[in-house]
Amino acid sequence: RPLDVIEGPLMDGMNTVGDLFGDGKMFLPQVVKSARVMKKAVAHLIPYIEASKAESGESTDQGVIIMATVKGDVHDIGKNIVGVVLQCNNYRVVDLGVMVPTQAILDAAKEHKADIIGLSGLITPSLDEMVTVASEMERQGFDIPLMIGGATTSPAHTSLRIEPGYSGDVVYVKDASRAVGVASRLLGEDRQSYSEELQREHVAKRASYATKKAAPLLPFLETVNRRASLQFDETTVQVPRQLGVRVLNNYPLTALLDTIDWMPFFNAWEFSGRFPDILNDPLKGVEAKKLFADAQAMLERIIDEQWLEARAVFGLFPAYSDENSIVILDPLTGEPIETTHWLRQQKPMPDGKPQLCLADFIAPKTSEVTDYIGAFAVTAGHGIDEHVKAFEDAHDDYSAIMLKALADRFAESFAEHLHRRVRTEFWGYASDETLDNNQLIREQYRGIRPAPGYPACPDHREKETLFRLLDVEENTGISLTESMAMTPTASVSGFYFGHPDARYFNLGKISEDQLVAYSEGRSEPLEVAKRWLAPVLAE
Ligand code: SAH
Repeated sequence: RPLDVIEGPLMDGMNTVGDLFGDGKMFLPQVVKSARVMKKAVAHLIPYIEASKAESGESTDQGVIIMATVKGDVHDIGKNIVGVVLQCNNYRVVDLGVMVPTQAILDAAKEHKADIIGLSGLITPSLDEMVTVASEMERQGFDIPLMIGGATTSPAHTSLRIEPGYSGDVVYVKDASRAVGVASRLLGEDRQSYSEELQREHVAKRASYATKKAAPLLPFLETVNRRASLQFDETTVQVPRQLGVRVLNNYPLTALLDTIDWMPFFNAWEFSGRFPDILNDPLKGVEAKKLFADAQAMLERIIDEQWLEARAVFGLFPAYSDENSIVILDPLTGEPIETTHWLRQQKPMPDGKPQLCLADFIAPKTSEVTDYIGAFAVTAGHGIDEHVKAFEDAHDDYSAIMLKALADRFAESFAEHLHRRVRTEFWGYASDETLDNNQLIREQYRGIRPAPGYPACPDHREKETLFRLLDVEENTGISLTESMAMTPTASVSGFYFGHPDARYFNLGKISEDQLVAYSEGRSEPLEVAKRWLAPVLAE
């Protein structure tokens, strides 16, 4: 009976998460790789299996799971790995892909008689979107469990914001290694007791959050007075050798090999540690080495067969700061072309240290010197889709995921490489810089490239400003979703600050007074600012 081929566990004892990952017996790349072997082996049988199941009214072994990255978001790799791991454990996974609207998720759940819905997200606006999905599930009378995962999600957000709106089970799933354990408990014999356990945890989390005393924030106006005052003169400000916007298309991928940071690649496959030490780790070394060898082999093909096209745009402009804003000027006319709005730390800094805002790193309007700012967007994602599809059509998830992970590496490497060229050539304030890749990864150079959505500048909408400033869409083919995610996914953007004292920091929480000033600065209704800044607003 062909059904046995696909319905039996993939490998002996590979049914629980403990078996999969416990004691380092199996690592994710192995699991995903074996899925390739399995899926290829049964690929020609799948239509028959589906048909015979439909005929006999037989359901899949463990249950049906709908997986989706929510509307506006393009998070992919983690979700796909979870999907493969669940499939290996005999769940039927219906993966709806990325940027999936709420109703499409719920319709698919009904159509496939789903047992669980799994939502995934990478960027903060997706948190709100997940709350919407949960409340729609409630409104439309769903009672199946909801699994929440992805980089932006957290146990706190799940308990505080998502769970209260939905009466079914809601579980935060930290990583792929836990997905099977969670799913099997949600649908298993002891589901009732698991459900009660989850409920108790959510209640406890909310209670502990309610009693947690948040540190009092300084009044916004006071923080503006406590801003950093940097030294702006010829020792800290340099006139760029080249002002204006410049496009680099079809950039040679070979030029980007040196500056690849490999650790995030291993992290994507849920290995922790340091590179290259991980290759010789007593427990993980063997599998890490195999993964790395597979990556090298695919890198060679990507380059030889030109699978990906790297494109970039960057610009350098005169600019001045005005409290929390930076006004960017046309290099030719000196007229303002864009104003960027930033947020200032309100959590009191110790020892009279300044309350930071990115605007502090640019000379104020009143300064004697003209200062400069830069911006960039790079991508290595053009061309990827057809190759991913070919792998997926061949039931080779391992290679599909590998390719996406490598495209991400190229994009990050391009950001590093271009930043170095800007420092040493185009802006030229560090023309004699000589740093090796380790030093680059540790950011031991002068200047920073903060990215909207990251801790110093959590409002993703500054990408909109950046995209207008550099005409990014036209110049590179990168576009923004309604949640400000970039597509292709393998893209990176940010602003360049060249001052020697410019550094990354964490904004922390802000209060209503700054929110009001911010929304006025951006000439937008308070409610709009509130929605986008929800993750950083103090209660
Ligand atoms: N080597 C890593 C680089 C990415 S993470 C990789 O290959 O994946 C580092 C980048 O994140 C920085 O260059 C900057 O763009 C952004 N970043 C880090 N901390 C930040 C902060 N506090 N505020 C704004 N951007 C930050």
